[in-house]
Amino acid sequence: MSHPVQTPKAIVFDLGKVLVDFDYGRAAQRLAPLSRLDTDSFRQLIDQSPLLHELETGRIDFTSLVDIIGKESGYQGTFEFFQEAFTDIFTEIPEVIGLHSELRSRGIPTYLLSNTSGVASDHVRRRFPFFGHFNGYVMSHEVGHMKPATPIYEALERMAGFKGADLLYLDDRADNIEAALARGWQALLHQDAAASVAEVRSRLGW
Ligand SMILES: [Mg+2]
Repeated sequence: MSHPVQTPKAIVFDLGKVLVDFDYGRAAQRLAPLSRLDTDSFRQLIDQSPLLHELETGRIDFTSLVDIIGKESGYQGTFEFFQEAFTDIFTEIPEVIGLHSELRSRGIPTYLLSNTSGVASDHVRRRFPFFGHFNGYVMSHEVGHMKPATPIYEALERMAGFKGADLLYLDDRADNIEAALARGWQALLHQDAAASVAEVRSRLGW
């Protein structure tokens, strides 16, 4: 692996599949029995659907999403149960959270750059303490754009006050990494927690 000469000054983390794993199948298993759909069909309705994209760009709010899915699925449960099941899909990835904690304790600024909704990020903030400890947050539902679109990366640069190779970014999606590299950021395609932790430490000269 080639090592850039420059030591990064701030580390930027994607959320899903980097700091927390998630599984919309868990939500579908709980919600489908309260609808006329089977689990697979219910999952398709929420995971990677145009509706989720609308929610994560802030074009619709969560109440509208529940409304639309209710109509399409015949969901008969409560709004509260839907929200609980829809958001209780995350589990921590301890090695990467441990890396984040080490960066914080050594005074390296960290930022979160995530395609997410208000309802999901509020849940993760309440459930997992690590979420409260970034220097700044850029989330698609607030910016109105999703990775890999340029404006969300520009928003991160403005917030952090760093750009180019001062930033080192971890994301599990190749398209998001390519967009970061195209802006001159350092970036790592996250596939394996131990490998990512070792590479970040190495680029920091630790
Ligand atoms: Mg991700």
